[in-house]
Amino acid sequence: MRRQEAHGERRPEMATDEPGPEASAGAPGQDAGVVPGADAGVVAAGAPTTAVVDVLVVGAGITGIYALYRAREAGFSALLVEAGAGVGGTWFWNRYPGARFDSESYTYGYLFSEELFDEWEWQEHFAGQPEIERYLNHVVDRFDLRRDIRLGARVRAALYDDRAGTWRVTVDDGSAVTAWFLIAATGVLSVPHFPDVPGREGFQGEQHHTGLWPSEPVHFAGRRVAVVGTGSSGVQLVPVVAAEAASLTVYQRTANWCTPLNNAPITPSEQARLRSEFDAIRHTLNTSASGFLHVPHDRATFDDAAEERLAFYEKMWNSPGFSKLTSHYTDLLFDPAANDEWCAFIAAKVRSIVEDPATAERLIPNDHRYGEHRPPFVAGYYEAYNRPNVSLVDLKQTPIVGVTERGIETADGLRQFDIIVWATGFDFGTGALLRMGVRGRRGVALEERWADGPRTFLGVQTAGFPNFFFPGGPHAAAGNNPRYNGDQVDFIIDLLTFARRNGYATIEVDPAAEAEWTAMVDRGATRSPSFSEASYYFGTNIPGKPRRYLLNSAGRRKLFKEIAKVVQDNYKVFGLSPAPADALTPSRQA
Ligand code: NAP
Repeated sequence: MRRQEAHGERRPEMATDEPGPEASAGAPGQDAGVVPGADAGVVAAGAPTTAVVDVLVVGAGITGIYALYRAREAGFSALLVEAGAGVGGTWFWNRYPGARFDSESYTYGYLFSEELFDEWEWQEHFAGQPEIERYLNHVVDRFDLRRDIRLGARVRAALYDDRAGTWRVTVDDGSAVTAWFLIAATGVLSVPHFPDVPGREGFQGEQHHTGLWPSEPVHFAGRRVAVVGTGSSGVQLVPVVAAEAASLTVYQRTANWCTPLNNAPITPSEQARLRSEFDAIRHTLNTSASGFLHVPHDRATFDDAAEERLAFYEKMWNSPGFSKLTSHYTDLLFDPAANDEWCAFIAAKVRSIVEDPATAERLIPNDHRYGEHRPPFVAGYYEAYNRPNVSLVDLKQTPIVGVTERGIETADGLRQFDIIVWATGFDFGTGALLRMGVRGRRGVALEERWADGPRTFLGVQTAGFPNFFFPGGPHAAAGNNPRYNGDQVDFIIDLLTFARRNGYATIEVDPAAEAEWTAMVDRGATRSPSFSEASYYFGTNIPGKPRRYLLNSAGRRKLFKEIAKVVQDNYKVFGLSPAPADALTPSRQA
């Protein structure tokens, strides 16, 4: 019903980039106390433009694009600012060779328009980065969103004005935006982490991070390449570099349980089936716990005899992507004996693929079970180690001492390189939000409020920061990202619509509800099945970061349940109040 409501609402004129009569004449984001461009403390001297909008979205990733679409469709004036030179977010920045989905393409893309679903023919079950970037550009153009997207615009500060009840956001191009509502769709994996290795900046060759990959091609042919890190990014990159470079040295600190992605082109008959089953597909993706189409298994490991188990593991090994988790034996993540047996199966596969027994042993994890870290999915990763130009350095045996002008020095000596690739991960969950200069009521810094880790309600809001939302940020569920990030965007836009219809302009979550949700997240994080504390999901990869769980440990179903309760209760858990007395009231009531 949400869609019909939105269509029935009046579509306001869009906020303009230029200050002018329209922007200062009582639009919803308008505030009598803020003269656009007048606050020298916020707006850089000579600021080129000042916009006034109802909704400012930060980040043109899959979540931000959807937030912009929904905000506009619901009749809010909206603007999206994005630091990158193009749209795509993760899929813009992570353009390293080999980057691709490991969720099925048609389950990751948008579901809000059947026409879009019909007209975009994904070429592969797991699309590569170039196709994904093309798709997101297509969406932006198809729905005429580009006119409200400002690229190359990184947010430097976002200040809540207590008196006016608006957010004043400064962008690094010197412009400023006054917004009634601020939606930070800044992603959980958007701040690349470079390890603090002595000498890193003095390296005289090329160096790149997978999460900050340049638009110009990086030429590996004939060059000596190092890849540091063997998470999902590193293991996607390795086979591609191995096939081109003169030599490739992979620096591994922790081995991962990698299994085949099992990608394939989507055949014409599969394309036709996808289209004919759109409603059922959308229903499953919008309601399942993991946001995938995979069918859960109905048996536990030891319900089957040894031979049947072996056949099942073989089937899993040959199954696509995450089905190895979502369609596996029901006790995979609960029964250590079950998990151990699956791990032993993978280990045997690694030994059968990798010809050098010592290398094979180093590639087999010995410090965590399957699913305790986010499992990577691979194509030709283990096989790459059979090439004569590829070698593996085990950093647990020979740690990095430093980077010199010419290469990487480990405890066993210096290896020289032309290119170093840092596939060393991200400041997960809170990294981007804490770097945006967010200041809530009375100027409280978000970094201060979250000094011990994030505190949220439903992973969408934190107390003391009215009208500030962060879908797809910390405390979001684990699974197929766009699905539950989309749930959060829908919830937020519905909440804004409810507030507008009832004459409210300020939305701030009750601190008690936030405390309860956060405590629930923390409690669940130590229960099975959950990721190990030695994973980035707890912030352990970033020195000095508080060790707090950064996902929603109760999953998507809990989010659904809680959202239903909140809506049923007319959003009472949020303090809803009219615009402050000296600010103009939003004029566009639904
Ligand atoms: P990651 O999983 O955090 O892996 C980082 C790697 O760098 C790990 O092997 C880590 O070793 C290593 N590392 C970190 N600091 C190091 C240091 N100081 N010295 C040596 N090694 C160090 O990061 P990622 O591979 O970029 O993946 C992050 C997430 O992005 C994935 O889990 C996934 O959610 C997402 N992703 C998705 C896709 C996809 O959908 N297709 C592709 C790529 C990434 P330790 O394990 O020992 O810390």
